[in-house]
Amino acid sequence: MQNILPKTILLIVIITMIIFNYSFPQERTKIINGKIVEVDKCGFPIDDSYLPKYISPEYMGYSYDSLLADLEQWRLSDYVKIDSIGLSVQGRPLWQLTISSDPNDVEDKRVVHIHARTHPQETEGFYVTDEIIKILLSENNFAQTVRSNCVFYIVPMYNPDGVVLGYPRKNANNIDLEANWFTFPNQPEVAALKARFTQLMSSANPIEVMLNMHSDSDCARFFVCHDSAGTSPLYYSLEENFIEGIRAYYLTGILPWDSVVTWQGGNPLKYPESWFWLNYAASVMALTYEDMYQCSLTGNFNVTANAILHGVMDYMNIVTDVEQVTEVTPKQFLLQQNYPNPFNPNTKISWQSPISGHQTLKVYDVLGNEVATLVNEYRNAGSNEIDFNVGRDFSPNLASGIYFYRIAIHSDILQAGDFLDTKKMILLK
Ligand SMILES: [Zn+2]
Repeated sequence: MQNILPKTILLIVIITMIIFNYSFPQERTKIINGKIVEVDKCGFPIDDSYLPKYISPEYMGYSYDSLLADLEQWRLSDYVKIDSIGLSVQGRPLWQLTISSDPNDVEDKRVVHIHARTHPQETEGFYVTDEIIKILLSENNFAQTVRSNCVFYIVPMYNPDGVVLGYPRKNANNIDLEANWFTFPNQPEVAALKARFTQLMSSANPIEVMLNMHSDSDCARFFVCHDSAGTSPLYYSLEENFIEGIRAYYLTGILPWDSVVTWQGGNPLKYPESWFWLNYAASVMALTYEDMYQCSLTGNFNVTANAILHGVMDYMNIVTDVEQVTEVTPKQFLLQQNYPNPFNPNTKISWQSPISGHQTLKVYDVLGNEVATLVNEYRNAGSNEIDFNVGRDFSPNLASGIYFYRIAIHSDILQAGDFLDTKKMILLK
C-alpha cells in the first residue's frame, strides 16, 4: 500500500500535464550509459561528471595560437579592424574583428554580431565563423555589397582561457559562460560581451542579427529556435522567416527551422539570447547556430557560411544579387516571398507563370478570412509584381500580425497544369 500513493500521485501529475498540454522545460535529455541525462542546448550533459575534464587544444583542432596567427593575416585586409572587447579571467584579450568597407567609419552601417567558441570544444562553430570571415573579406560583388551596407562585429574566440586550458565547456573560473549569462554576470567574459552588446544596442545603429556559434553533439546543423510561448507569435514567425531564409541556400544541410525548439516554458534567463529577448524583444534576431560536433558528416563549413550570409542579407532586405533583367517566358510557376517582410504599410508580391490564364491573388488572415483580393483577371504568361498597401487596398486598416497571400492560376486549356501556392507575410506596425 505504501508504494501505491506516490505512483498514483505521479500518474495524476502526468495525466494533468498531458491534459493541460504542459510543455516540458527547455532542456533536452539523452541516454548516456543507460541513464537518462539532461543535456544543454548543444547536446552535452549538464552534469559534467559525464564529460572529460580536459581536452587537449590539439584535439580541439584550433588553438589560441592558431587564432593569433589568423589575426595577423586578417589584419592585412583594409576591411578589417582588430581590437578587443575586454580581457578573460587570465588576462587574454577577447579579440574582436570589425569588418566593413571602411572599418573606421561604420556610422551608417547595419549591424550584425557573431561570437564563437563559448564552449571551447565546439570548434566547428568557429570554422563556420572563419568561413564567414573569408567570404566577407573577399573581392566578389556579394562581399562588396555586404561590406558597403553592413558592419560585422565578430568575436571568434569568446572563451580563450578555456581553449588554452583544454576545458571543454567552461572558463578559467570553471563557469559555463553560455548557460550562466544571468547567474554569473561578473565573470569577465560575460561582463565584457554584455557591455559591448549594451553599447551597440544604445547606438544609432543597433544590432539587428546576433549569432551565437556552437556545435551540437548530434550529427546535425540547426538553429535553436525559441518557442512562441517564451517569446511571441510574431517573433516565432520571424524566426521561421530567418532560419528558412538561410536554409533555402543549403536545404540538404541545415535542419528545418522548428526542428529544435526551446524556451517552451518561458525565457530561461540563461543565455545571451535570453538577455536580448528580455531587453530588446523582436528587434534583434538573436539565435544560437549549432554545427556538427565531430561526426562523420562534419564539414562543408564554407557552404554553411555562404548560406548564413545570404540568408542574413535577405532577412535584412539587403539586395546582394544584381541580376540581369531579361524578358523571357518563365519555365516554371513561382510565388516569391513578399518584400519587404515584415512590412508597413507597403510590400511587393511577385510571381511568375509559364502559362496564360485566369489569375487570382488573395490575402487571408490567420483564421482564413479573406481580407483582400489583389488580382482577379486573365493574364498572359510572364512575370508579375504587385504592390500591396494596407491603408490603400484594405479599409479599415489591418492589425499587426501574420497574413497569408495565395496565388491561383487556372489555364484556359484543361490539364495544362494549374498552380496554387500560399506564403506567409507579417504586418508589423
Ligand atoms: Zn555550445
